[in-house]
Amino acid sequence: MKYIYGPVKSRRLGLSLGISLVPYKMCNLDCIYCQLGPTAKRTLKRKQYIKIKDIISELSEFINSADFKNMNIDYISLSGTGEPLLNSKIDVLIDEIKKLSTIPIALITNASLFKEKRIRDSILGVDLIMPSLDAIDNETFKAIDRPAKGLCIEDIIKGLVNLRNEFGGKIFLEIMIVKGVNDNLSYFQEFKHVIARIDPDKVHLNVPKRHTSEAGVSVPDREVLKKICKILGDKCEII
Ligand code: SF4
Repeated sequence: MKYIYGPVKSRRLGLSLGISLVPYKMCNLDCIYCQLGPTAKRTLKRKQYIKIKDIISELSEFINSADFKNMNIDYISLSGTGEPLLNSKIDVLIDEIKKLSTIPIALITNASLFKEKRIRDSILGVDLIMPSLDAIDNETFKAIDRPAKGLCIEDIIKGLVNLRNEFGGKIFLEIMIVKGVNDNLSYFQEFKHVIARIDPDKVHLNVPKRHTSEAGVSVPDREVLKKICKILGDKCEII
């Protein structure tokens, strides 16, 4: 299969069947902890990088296979090897998936394009959105996520606040904590106010994978993570 992968067992989603909507490492960020390696060229250009009809044809074949009938898939997840919102026809894909299956759909995104209402509108049909937010100021945002020119953290936060008001499903916000970059406890005293504005259903603290992150990217101490979790309150868990 070219565009469908898994199903994979995931801590956050259970058994999840993944769909890639963009070619390998097509992204508007270049996160220092990215498991896929460096982003060769960050882009903000949205287009139908992979044809929706090709994805649907592959998904349809898989759903009708004997293998699929023995699987209890919890989610179909729109994620893959880059930023899924860069595919400009994601709305069509969501509609077509719903015609094929009643399995809930999850969107895993870096949230950087939620500033635009038409992009937020295009994904309202999913059941769960898992956006990431690693910083609340531009200096830290640049240090950890290395965004394409033109992206700014205030717009992303506003986009997430608007999304919360417009989207009826669940939002699990993920924060990747990198030692020495965004693991300062006083930073999270501010972060918690931003999270209160976004009002996600859950907050997931994650840490970089040592073997795939860039050299020099370190995992914070477990005790620090626990303290951050305490600051962020009941919705927060370390995953
Ligand atoms: S947003 Fe995701 S795919 Fe893009 S660089 Fe960051 S971790 Fe990698």
